[in-house]
Amino acid sequence: MPRFALEVKANMVNVSNLMPEELPDFRWHVKLKCSNCGEVSDHWQYVVAENQSTTGSGRGSANFTEKCKLCSRQNSLDILTETFKPYTADKNLEYQAMIAFDCRGLEPVDFDPRNGWCCESTESSAKFSDVDLTEREWADYDEAASAAVEINEWQHRFVVVRAKK
Ligand SMILES: [Zn+2]
Repeated sequence: MPRFALEVKANMVNVSNLMPEELPDFRWHVKLKCSNCGEVSDHWQYVVAENQSTTGSGRGSANFTEKCKLCSRQNSLDILTETFKPYTADKNLEYQAMIAFDCRGLEPVDFDPRNGWCCESTESSAKFSDVDLTEREWADYDEAASAAVEINEWQHRFVVVRAKK
């Protein structure tokens, strides 16, 4: 089954280690495309690592299942939390793979970061929570280091990675 990695690129100003505050229940908002008929959902849906729903066939479960509105095929997705890596300032402004999804019958075509993120200062021991990326940028102030902190120039893409054998 194809595996898709979410790659993120951003400009991290005096911060690093951008990640969801709670990885298990973070809502990854995505737009999904049915691989069978090409239908793309017109609204944002979210997938959550700790959610489990049974697949239509009754065989096992997945983090997300959906019957395509157009072709009625049962599609599903699993979040591979073990692939998660925070976005670091070491490779600032470069695409970095953040997390991968195992997809059966669908593919993610867009992502919306929204809120629920956290990151750390690179200039002090300050940690920032409630980092809201709804506008795809964020700014705060690191008082310990007297430095402005920012995340901007947000971009993302999905790339196919080698399926697990
Ligand atoms: Zn379909």
